[in-house]
Amino acid sequence: MSFMKLLLYNSLNRRKEEFIPTQKQQVGLYTCGPTVYNFAHIGNLRTYIFEDILKRVLLYNGYRVKHVMNITDVGHLTGDRDMGEDKMEKGAAREGRSAWEIAEFYTRAFKADIARLNIIEPDIWVKATDTIEDQITLIQTLEEKGYTYQTGDGIYFDTSKFADYTKLSHQNIESLQEGARVEKNPEKRNPTDFALWKFSPKDVRRQMEWNSPWGIGFPGWHIECSAMSMKFLDNQLDIHCGGTDHIDVHHTNEIAQSEAATGKKFFNFWMHGAFLIIAGGKKMAKSEENFLTLENAFVKAGINPLVYRFAAFQTHYRKPMEYSSESVQAARNGLQHLQNQVRQVTQGAAGRTAAVNEAFKSKFLAEINDDLSMPRAMAVVQEMLKSTMADAEKLATILSFDTVLGLELDQVDKTGALPPAVQKLFEDRQAARSAKDWTASDRLRDAIQELGYTVQDTKEGMKIIKN
Ligand code: AMP
Ligand code: ZN
Repeated sequence: MSFMKLLLYNSLNRRKEEFIPTQKQQVGLYTCGPTVYNFAHIGNLRTYIFEDILKRVLLYNGYRVKHVMNITDVGHLTGDRDMGEDKMEKGAAREGRSAWEIAEFYTRAFKADIARLNIIEPDIWVKATDTIEDQITLIQTLEEKGYTYQTGDGIYFDTSKFADYTKLSHQNIESLQEGARVEKNPEKRNPTDFALWKFSPKDVRRQMEWNSPWGIGFPGWHIECSAMSMKFLDNQLDIHCGGTDHIDVHHTNEIAQSEAATGKKFFNFWMHGAFLIIAGGKKMAKSEENFLTLENAFVKAGINPLVYRFAAFQTHYRKPMEYSSESVQAARNGLQHLQNQVRQVTQGAAGRTAAVNEAFKSKFLAEINDDLSMPRAMAVVQEMLKSTMADAEKLATILSFDTVLGLELDQVDKTGALPPAVQKLFEDRQAARSAKDWTASDRLRDAIQELGYTVQDTKEGMKIIKN
């Protein structure tokens, strides 16, 4: 266990707070997952990278983490106010496939994307369609407690009955109601009320529909996350995450319905990642169809997807991150530089092992524990690699940091290993220099040069670069 405080920004109280889990050593983490009607765009993926860093920081602090992620495969309507089409059915119509096929296809694509970004998979994946019964039970509890009412198209949650509806969004309820008027459903008692269960249209057979005590239909979008987090994280509702767009509606509604049902606090920490924006300040969104996928922007362009992961570390997760071809190029150079540095310290260590440097580890921990300050943590990485420490110690330390960074730096040596003959000359030259035998050192330099490598003697030690 680390004894350094872990501070996380809690959107609920709008400040950094010391993180203390409900159970001593295990953290319950719930991250809202993808709606699988299309590929994830790299904006969505920025949020998942932020959540992965959070999880790795928790692990680095010595906690065990139980991580649950949902897959929204039904009931997420195109409008935020329970109007519009179901995104899944819309996706199915667009592609001439069934909604179930669409869900399966894009779930697989999503899992492939996060694997390429070296994001650690959740311990539990749950599809909304696999927990319909739990969702119905939760709606029944709300009904018994008097929080629901029925309209022509579904069962709704009455937000006026939940005292602290805006405690997460901190919005002024009048301005909220003003905003909601645009997409007004005349049967709603309050503009902020939301659907728990929607009825299937009378004369249409939906592809995804279920029996319920209120008739055939499908669940509203928000109820799945409440039902799943309570089912799998029960008495360890520690941290709940998503993008900032979830604050005003999705997470606000999750809190209202969960706390109304249980009478208890629902999650202690709420954390939100800021948007990826494209030049001009516009956010990347699936509905805008302006989106870039990892496949198109990176894989097909011959760029290692970890470049995007590295790029995400340059901006704090609560600040908007601007995406451009220049920022990708800068990240590409940055990652390559880091890989070269690791390659060089690996060569310099020449198989020797050392312990992690505690002073640098504390410095690194102080940054990541200050609300996941990755830009500053990356500065510590550079300071450490440029220090006068022995290569073996640098190597041990960077590999320890990489359990948080997730840049696969332990693979670097394998991909850029020196040929054995060069490695042997390199080691001989290191020995010659330690023995201050400058003649042998010069001779070995020339021998290395003949094999197509250049030796550089820097104040951080000997480096070898392929010509
Ligand atoms: P969705 O699949 O649309 O439900 O979104 C998946 C996740 O991505 C959610 O946590 C959203 O808040 C987040 N998100 C959506 N758009 C962006 C964006 N442009 N930048 C960062 N995160 C986003
Ligand atoms: Zn959710």
